[in-house]
Amino acid sequence: MTQTREDVPLIFERSQPGRRGVTPPVTEGAPLETLLGREHLRSEPPRLPEVSELDLVRHYTNLAHRQFSIDGNVYPLGSCTMKYNPKVHEEAASLFSDVHPEQDDGSVQGTLGLLWHLARDLSEITGMDQVTLQPAAGAHGELTGILMIRAFHEANGEGAQRRTVIVPDAAHGTNPATAGMVGYDVVEVPTGEDGEVDVGALRAALGPDTAAVMLTNPSTVGIFEGRILEIAEAAHAVGAQVYYDGANLNAIVGKARPGDMGFDVVHLNLHKTFTTPHGGGGPGTGPVGVKAHLAPFLPGPVIEREGERYVVQEDRPNSVGRMRSHHGNVGNLVRAYAYIRSLGPDGLADVAEKAVLNANYLRKRLEEQGFSMAYDRTCMHEFVAQPPGELRTLDLAKALLDEGMHPMTVYFPLVVKEAMMVEPTETEALETLDAYAEALGRVTRRAQQDAEWLAGAPYMTPVRRLDEVLAARTPILRWTPSEAVDAVQGEAAD
Ligand SMILES: *Cc1c(COP(=O)(O)O)cnc(C)c1O
Repeated sequence: MTQTREDVPLIFERSQPGRRGVTPPVTEGAPLETLLGREHLRSEPPRLPEVSELDLVRHYTNLAHRQFSIDGNVYPLGSCTMKYNPKVHEEAASLFSDVHPEQDDGSVQGTLGLLWHLARDLSEITGMDQVTLQPAAGAHGELTGILMIRAFHEANGEGAQRRTVIVPDAAHGTNPATAGMVGYDVVEVPTGEDGEVDVGALRAALGPDTAAVMLTNPSTVGIFEGRILEIAEAAHAVGAQVYYDGANLNAIVGKARPGDMGFDVVHLNLHKTFTTPHGGGGPGTGPVGVKAHLAPFLPGPVIEREGERYVVQEDRPNSVGRMRSHHGNVGNLVRAYAYIRSLGPDGLADVAEKAVLNANYLRKRLEEQGFSMAYDRTCMHEFVAQPPGELRTLDLAKALLDEGMHPMTVYFPLVVKEAMMVEPTETEALETLDAYAEALGRVTRRAQQDAEWLAGAPYMTPVRRLDEVLAARTPILRWTPSEAVDAVQGEAAD
């Protein structure tokens, strides 16, 4: 985050009547009224700022400098995989920007072929039999997967009997939320002292009413479930399905496969593991892979290969239905394909090795700075630390912002007091990890001596400590020029 001057005027304050950045061409042919229909025309012109091109460039550049981004510095937000995404993947995605989703299949064979190959690659990476590329986010993939599990039980005549979904207490919040949305009762099982799910409690929760067990492996505390085969076997023994939350696959990609661990369904977050930039609200993609017994329930349409041609198969009588318009977020799918093909199997395995190595290195460096670990053992792609003494995680996270570095995920998972969940990712260099550990050590030492300084941090950021309760209770989600002007005038009147 770069320090920006408070007095840089924003776009509406730069506006001068009659000033222009671009002059759109005069429309030729039929008048807009005929083309659009009178009812779609504005009755009065929109209130837009009137600025030169340079003013506009400065406006967006200044806004960008107020924003923290992975292109600026390290961003080790646990469970979010904020890693660097090579720019060449943007170029690959832009090659497909002229394709329209309504084009007939004959004219988009290249796009359909890419999607078909990507689905096959993801099946191989996850150890699943078939993959849908439709879902637009991780949570959307979960919804798709759990709907398929429900359809499977219904097809077996067990829809009414199977009422519960088992979820560990450290799970990502979307897991219980998804199960609840599909109409299941959520049964929570605790995490043991070693960071693994309490298998005794899980076995006790399993029964003829269990529809599914949802697990993340490695879990959200960054620990690999060593007893995963036993868990999957116990779940299958009572007729339940096992769901894998694969949002952060970079811990195991190219090394181990959910399909081989006994999972029936898996979703991936292409916008975490497979190179789509995220975090700024851009489109995500959450493909879902299934074992063959669930394939009839996959959302349609499905792309199939018939000889040399790719066809879109719409006729799917048992499908849970369409989850997304057209073929999903195709730009992200192209990025993922470029990423997988440029790395190859060895490159993907290298991703996992570096993700785990970086996390363990940073874990040790933070121990040297006085932090303790919630689970004192080798971690996978992330770990959960706790601050020394009586220090509060939130304060240290705020102070770290003044070092120009993004804090880790704070207060998640809820089962760890003052949790700091750190995921450095595979793309950070040794020197950056050292710098992060040292910066965190520096603010911690100062915090231990100067409570007043700590309470006021951060000092250098464009906005200081926000009133988070107010922001959550009364969010202003829509910005309009008239409100902005009113606010400025209101301030002037004060
Ligand atoms: C990010 C994440 C999700 C949710 O993904 P979205 O794309 O934000 O919906 C689910 N599970 C885990 C473990 C995650 O890290």
